[in-house]
Amino acid sequence: MKKANILPVLEKKMKDLWQKIEHMMFPDDIKCIFCGRDVPNFYDKPYCEDCEKTLPFNNGTRCKVCDRPSKEAVCDFCKQEPKFFEQAFCPLIYEKQVKNLILAFKDNNKRYLAKGFAVLIAKRVLESGVKIDKITYIPMTEQKQKKRGFNQAKLLADEVGRLLNKPVLTYFKKEKDDVSQKFLNYKERRNAMLGTYSVKNVRFNKDENVLIVDDIITTTATVNYCAGLIYPKVGKVYVCGVARTDYHGLAQ
Ligand SMILES: [Zn+2]
Ligand SMILES: [Zn+2]
Repeated sequence: MKKANILPVLEKKMKDLWQKIEHMMFPDDIKCIFCGRDVPNFYDKPYCEDCEKTLPFNNGTRCKVCDRPSKEAVCDFCKQEPKFFEQAFCPLIYEKQVKNLILAFKDNNKRYLAKGFAVLIAKRVLESGVKIDKITYIPMTEQKQKKRGFNQAKLLADEVGRLLNKPVLTYFKKEKDDVSQKFLNYKERRNAMLGTYSVKNVRFNKDENVLIVDDIITTTATVNYCAGLIYPKVGKVYVCGVARTDYHGLAQ
């Protein structure tokens, strides 16, 4: 007879219970994610009217593949470098207060921001009408995650999963830390990425579409690399991040 291991179940129950208590004591889904003021309907707009006026939303004409601001339906970057994913969803532009907030989310341990960010992402996905079946995320190396204590992309994925009511699964493993990518262009980044991520030995389904969650999408090299690892095994691959830089690295 198979012996059931109840320890992980108990651990999860305790964690869920603690989250409920924490949420009752410190509700974070009533305040503007940018300035902390109370907002009337967080799950529609997790920001206040004043912040709405100054926020750099990624709302203009955009590339229908990589979601970066573009006058053409498919930008030059995507024409030159076809992607393994169908479409990206990035509700904000990575600049001004968005940059500071995402840095605080990653480095100052403001984990509660995941909820508001996820509302913005989930709205984009729902508005697009695409079908999502499974959600996954860009991992960190075990060492780095231990140091930080959490993976911000996983936190976001969990919240997006809750809002879209879809399961969140771990598909990728990060094998080694990147060489500093700051000064690399897209092609250098893409080459530097070989062997950085691997795909886990899980069962994939050709009929299921997958959404890959990351925090920021810059050159798309990371999300595209991971999309490439699963795209022959699943239906369509979509990617998303809180914010998009208007940079693709091809000009260098
Ligand atoms: Zn505000
Ligand atoms: Zn594009």
